Amino acid sequence: MTILETGGERLLAAVRALLEQKGIVSTNEIMERMAITDSASPGQGARMVAKAWVDPAYRARMLEDGTKAAEELGIPMRGMPPLGVLENTAEVHHLVVCTLCSCYPRAVLGYPPLWYKSAGYRARAVRDPRELLASEWKTFIPDSVKVRVVDSTADYRWMVLPERPSGTDGWDEARLAGIVRVGDMIGVTVPGV
Ligand code: FE
Repeated sequence: MTILETGGERLLAAVRALLEQKGIVSTNEIMERMAITDSASPGQGARMVAKAWVDPAYRARMLEDGTKAAEELGIPMRGMPPLGVLENTAEVHHLVVCTLCSCYPRAVLGYPPLWYKSAGYRARAVRDPRELLASEWKTFIPDSVKVRVVDSTADYRWMVLPERPSGTDGWDEARLAGIVRVGDMIGVTVPGV
């Protein structure tokens, strides 16, 4: 363990103790939040995407307010930063990044992949997103489609609503949710069958 890590843990312990002493947040609340984060997974976001694909009214609500749409499916969002949803279309493809650190909609996608936090991803996503998607994920966005890079922050977290792939007519929500991967909801990949 480095000096920095040791210092960081002591600082964390000190801040937690202060928050408890001042009655701002209790140990139980911290434990509850850790349990929620530990139990979250990309499957939560995939359920939202699948429902949006089959239910236009839900899709509209999800684009309007991602937090409410998540809660509608029983996903705990209390105390989380607001969730925004970016819709991919034939005209625009969204890519989510946190240029500053690693802000990520953990409630609906779980813990971020390691690459999401890397300096390389954060820089290249902004500098040349098409090149990044093509070289690292073999995701080729046609020139006719605009690529929009969106910054997740401490105040607002983003997820992508990908386009429903062809060949999925008549599929139910559970089957559709099964083809939605975490990268599809960050925008590095697109769902396919
Ligand atoms: Fe961040």
